[in-house]
Amino acid sequence: MEGTENLAPETGRGAYELRSARFLAADILRRTVQDGDAVVDATMGNGHDTLFLCSLVGETGKVYAFDIQPDAVEKTWERLSEAGMACRAVLFNTGHEHMAELVPCLVRAAVFNLGWLPGGDHGITTRTQTTLRAVNQALELLLPMGVLVLCAYPGHEEGGRELEALERFFTGLSPREFNVLQHTFLNAGPGAPVCFAVQKMRTADAPAE
Ligand code: SAM
Repeated sequence: MEGTENLAPETGRGAYELRSARFLAADILRRTVQDGDAVVDATMGNGHDTLFLCSLVGETGKVYAFDIQPDAVEKTWERLSEAGMACRAVLFNTGHEHMAELVPCLVRAAVFNLGWLPGGDHGITTRTQTTLRAVNQALELLLPMGVLVLCAYPGHEEGGRELEALERFFTGLSPREFNVLQHTFLNAGPGAPVCFAVQKMRTADAPAE
């Protein structure tokens, strides 16, 4: 989305700054993803999040990344190559709703940053039905204690529909299976991004803490 920040920037030690709702997502990922992990970037875009995830999984990990736009895949490939991390990623030029067929293993984390390609065509945006299908598949792919982080942008029409559908879907998840956190800046106006962090429980029987 235009003007949204990627996950990568550091806040700096000793100065935890609530600069954007996405910083919490980055923090959760830094604490969750370990060397050697497999993870999913469901919306590659310009590749900032893919690069951030590649840095977290290390040389032996793998990032499976998706985007429907060839431009996004190209930009991401260039970004990863420049950073010497292209071998840590598998880039799919297809919709994230196909991840169940394409990701060969369980993953520690899945990242969704919804909306359109920053600097690209605003008509090509994530869509409610495919987003819901992909989120369902990502939750299936998560390892126990793995996390899904998702940021939605209700400032445009389809973004509003996506957010409404996601809130309904996440609200309905069993607390025995998942913990779901929602965060947003309440004083940032009606179009403010809304981020979710969903953690899969250790086992289906474990109560939410
Ligand atoms: N994470 C990106 C980054 O770090 O630059 C920004 C992602 S951008 C806000 C959203 C992206 O989702 C766009 O590039 C768009 O093409 C992509 N997208 C839209 N529908 C999709 C789908 N069904 N599957 C995968 N990507 C999709």
